[in-house]
Amino acid sequence: MTASNDHLFGVYARAPIEVDRGQGVRLYDRHGRSWLDFVQGIATNGLGHAAPVLVDAVRKQSEKLWHVSNIFTIPEQGELAEKLCAASFADRVFFTNSGTEAVECALKLARKYHASRGNEERIDIIGFEGAFHGRTYAAVTAAGNETYLKGFGPRLPGFVHLSLDDHDAIRAAAEAPTAAAILVEPVQGEGGARALTDAELTLLRELCDANGLLLIFDEIQCGMGRSGKMWAYEYSGVIPDVMCVAKALGGGFPVGACLATEDAASGMTVGAHGSTFGGNPLAMAVGLAAFGEISSPELLDNVRKQAGYLKQQLEGLKQTWPDMIDEIRGRGLLIGIKLKPNNREIMTLARDNGLLIAGGSDNCVRLLPPLNVTEDECREAVGLLEKTFEAARAAAQQKEQA
Ligand SMILES: *Cc1c(COP(=O)(O)O)cnc(C)c1O
Repeated sequence: MTASNDHLFGVYARAPIEVDRGQGVRLYDRHGRSWLDFVQGIATNGLGHAAPVLVDAVRKQSEKLWHVSNIFTIPEQGELAEKLCAASFADRVFFTNSGTEAVECALKLARKYHASRGNEERIDIIGFEGAFHGRTYAAVTAAGNETYLKGFGPRLPGFVHLSLDDHDAIRAAAEAPTAAAILVEPVQGEGGARALTDAELTLLRELCDANGLLLIFDEIQCGMGRSGKMWAYEYSGVIPDVMCVAKALGGGFPVGACLATEDAASGMTVGAHGSTFGGNPLAMAVGLAAFGEISSPELLDNVRKQAGYLKQQLEGLKQTWPDMIDEIRGRGLLIGIKLKPNNREIMTLARDNGLLIAGGSDNCVRLLPPLNVTEDECREAVGLLEKTFEAARAAAQQKEQA
């Protein structure tokens, strides 16, 4: 039987792969064909497909307890929160089921923070071009990407969008009496694997400090080891007040979290926020298992090592294929290749050649292998990319002759 999408909302441009199972870095379809998966659910399966430690955690917990309301004490939740806080700047955690909910929580927290200090007028969230924060109303409004906003009626009030290059405008927005927080990805993901400079992050921190704003980092994609450190912010030494995490947090199981300092979270008192599913025992059991693996020095070492290898190989490819590659960017295993031919065409050709890669704005493709990827697997990916470029060059030449 062929799978049909006829009864699904047509909101995705789906690749015609009828997925069946995965193992590590490989994804298999119903017909037994396999791909080297450098998408991994968009940086979500941090340990690859069907990681035994996660399978084991789900199996064990699923026989014990799946779900209870947050009106009860869920020990695993406290345990994972404690670990996240010990491994970061944070003192308090709220668990969600997705990245966008973690962003919602952060935005609500920021406004409540000011309101609880008698400053209800402070509602403005300052965001930046190229940002992606998820698909709920507040998250799309915060990111300001026209494509995701068009046709959905009036924008929510209290959101400002600026270019990261326009320092005067950023300063003015931060000094406004209505300013509440700055929201930014230390490494933009969907925006094309763009790492902010230390100077940019430092400026944002200084403006927040000078004007009493909260600095919110969206590390949903670049956090949880993806950058080669547990959190991407560690590279700059710039510490946020609030941080959104999701994607690899559950290793493929839906888990998100909003982390905050005691002070930033001070407005989030009883009744201020909540979730039915967020932080359920099953999610927490997987989260704990994923955290244990990802936070190990060996795994973070591996991310930096493989990232270095890939970067070096890709710079080599850039020399050989100047008609294909414009720029290599990103941080750790959040690697962006800005292409010269159309990125969608290259993604399709790569897929035909057995390699799955993700798209990105600015005509980028992203390589998002599992964090435990091996050098052999990286070498294989580079080889498949070369095959892809060969095919693209041949197709371009054919077009020219026609
Ligand atoms: C994926 C992503 C989100 C949204 O996460 P969902 O789980 O899809 O809601 C938000 N911010 C960033 C940086 C992301 O990469």
